Amino acid sequence: MRLALLTSIFIFFIGACAPQSQSPHWTYEGEEGPQHWGELDDSYAVCGTGTHQSPIDISAPSEQDLANIVFHYESSQVNIFNNGHTVQVNYDAGSYIELDSVRYDVLQFHYHAPSEHTVDGKEFPAELHIVHKNAEGKLAVVGILLEEGSQNEAYQPFIENLPKQKSDAQDAGVSINANDLLPSIQTTFRYSGSLTTPPCSEGVSWLLMTTPVEVSSEQLSTLESIFEEGNNRPVQPLNNRSLEEDSTP
Ligand SMILES: [Zn+2]
Repeated sequence: MRLALLTSIFIFFIGACAPQSQSPHWTYEGEEGPQHWGELDDSYAVCGTGTHQSPIDISAPSEQDLANIVFHYESSQVNIFNNGHTVQVNYDAGSYIELDSVRYDVLQFHYHAPSEHTVDGKEFPAELHIVHKNAEGKLAVVGILLEEGSQNEAYQPFIENLPKQKSDAQDAGVSINANDLLPSIQTTFRYSGSLTTPPCSEGVSWLLMTTPVEVSSEQLSTLESIFEEGNNRPVQPLNNRSLEEDSTP
């Protein structure tokens, strides 16, 4: 039993922003909504009491010459599922980033619509999260703000395979390369935050791209159609955290 418990906790963390179905139920509105997450279960307490929570409004970052993120992304099969809170692609093993010389492997990517982070109070139509983990179990999330513009073919293998209903992971029979999901300018806003879904665990390195990526209004409509009430947590107080912007591409 003890092993089973440890295994389920492990699976929970693998899920990152997208917990598995055995976790206590929560929603994006109403009595099980974000204002109440911390009260729904002891394991969610930090959602209510944490002081280093995500998302945040990006405002007045301090510009720094930070070490660039080095991307080592390979293409992956689109192993895709709807967990009831988001649609996620479990990424094939072998892709990673180097952040201050530490390797973080890509686990999965998923999306929120509208965006979770805001910039000077401005909300974007959607936001993609690429979730990574290092050998010590520490998470780093690359966030990409999506805005309305041209059709983006790189996003199509994801968007055209979104399961409308809760589903198990299945191979969509197409591949996708996370490199192509990134903006061409890869400077980031950086801060220490949390998972944006229960259990809201802290110690997550957030790397939010400063440059949004364009997708078409039709692509945005498809993303918005899956979770009609929206699947974004409201912004949280920065408190005494530093917020940095990498000023050098
Ligand atoms: Zn997320």
